[in-house]
Amino acid sequence: MASLNDIRSTFLDYFRRQGHAVVDSSPLVPRNDPTLMFTNSGMVQFKNVFTGLEHRPYNRATTSQKCVRAGGKHNDLDNVGYTARHHTFFEMLGNFSFGDYFKTEAIPFAWELLTKDFGIDKTRLLTTVYHTDDEAFEIWRKVGVPEDRIIRIATDDNFWRMGPTGPCGPCTEIFYDHGDHIWGGPPGSKDEDGDRFIEIWNVVFMQNEQFEDGTLRPLEMQSIDTGMGLERIGALLQGKHDNYDTDLMRGLIEASANVTDGAPDGPGKTHHRVIADHLRSTAFLIADGVMPSNEGRGYVLRRIMRRAMRHAHMLGAQDPVMFKLVPALVRAMGGHYTELKTAEALIAETLRLEETRFRTTLDRGLKLLDAELEKIADNTDLPGEAAFKLYDTYGFPLDLTQDALREKGRGVDTRGFEAAMAEQKAKARASWAGSGDTANQAIWFELAEKHGGSEFLGYDTETAEGQV
Ligand code: ATP
Ligand code: MG
Ligand code: MG
Ligand code: MG
Repeated sequence: MASLNDIRSTFLDYFRRQGHAVVDSSPLVPRNDPTLMFTNSGMVQFKNVFTGLEHRPYNRATTSQKCVRAGGKHNDLDNVGYTARHHTFFEMLGNFSFGDYFKTEAIPFAWELLTKDFGIDKTRLLTTVYHTDDEAFEIWRKVGVPEDRIIRIATDDNFWRMGPTGPCGPCTEIFYDHGDHIWGGPPGSKDEDGDRFIEIWNVVFMQNEQFEDGTLRPLEMQSIDTGMGLERIGALLQGKHDNYDTDLMRGLIEASANVTDGAPDGPGKTHHRVIADHLRSTAFLIADGVMPSNEGRGYVLRRIMRRAMRHAHMLGAQDPVMFKLVPALVRAMGGHYTELKTAEALIAETLRLEETRFRTTLDRGLKLLDAELEKIADNTDLPGEAAFKLYDTYGFPLDLTQDALREKGRGVDTRGFEAAMAEQKAKARASWAGSGDTANQAIWFELAEKHGGSEFLGYDTETAEGQV
């Protein structure tokens, strides 16, 4: 059986043979790009090449790009543990043309790799095109896809954007039908969110640029940007439906079970999946220089770490455990991503410290949560005040509370949460207004906004998202 590491190599080799330069993944923190919190796709490092601002010594490239989708336009944090196909950290395999080949080559490349080199059953594949893109429809037909398996989609699902601005364009996506024993409908149908038809590859025809004022202008050159999730194609090639059943993810899930309940497929299954996923995003983010903090990128990392820690707690872990999983991850992925090896000690130590710190309040916070739930009727949302107390006193990021409640089929009154937050900020301002020390006051507020209140737990839940 081909491992994920083998499949990555097969992909890169295929495109190398087609004249593509094999380029390293760029870091998860985009260079000089304030519009984006984390690298969320393969095209990010080539953004300025598509617009013509930057030139590279090649006009075809292929990469396996580290991606994190835990905020902003593409946010999969809440999907993790619940769908078969989403991670917060994943690897995106891609091939790129910078003003070189376009649709007529890009589609046959993808088809050949999938059906010949990877040997995937053609009759299980279907494709989508942007509703007005007759050209792409025609190319798929010529390649041999029956017309009733080429679906025209009018929504933004077939017009790819990295974020609010930047190069973008119509796209064509390739889906695999895992069979009618799994719930879900074909793309464009009302059940498309199910996991029966899984999107494996997105081929974007880069021909526009989106600007902040809403205008969409044509780019000077026509380019190609594609992205295929390694874990998704890996699942398929390993005869699995679920990304988490691939060799690599399975190894991490077993490692998680070994340090907790010993049962990877027992009642704690979802917890193990979340832990395995969040371990990867945490480790790769730290390796790329992000540290847990109370604002911006660091706060997203902290949220991911604390979520994982709550799941470990649910599995009965009494002491910090996340750091014990680092060696398994380094074994699995450190061969290709050597930065993991370099940062191994830092990753483990950061996890251990954060978990030690969070444990002092986690237990009490969860008890408070249960007590608050006792007070209210079934099926009602947790009052915002309570969620705010968990946040402010116990260091529970709002999304962690939401994640905990979701298991119980409940939600949070987020408006109430925001109101409680606003009230506390106003109170802090008012009490300082009395001191009359205006110069110091300005500095204090700046620091408070930046670092959070007395407990240093952070106010930046919204800013963290809003930046993207
Ligand atoms: P989906 O609709 O399943 O959420 P997407 O349309 O958001 O996927 P794209 O932005 O088109 O995904 O990204 C290109 C490819 O990257 C997808 O076709 C998929 O194979 C992979 N991918 C996207 N998001 C994830 C994720 N959260 N985890 C793993 N793989 C992903
Ligand atoms: Mg998505
Ligand atoms: Mg999609
Ligand atoms: Mg897509």
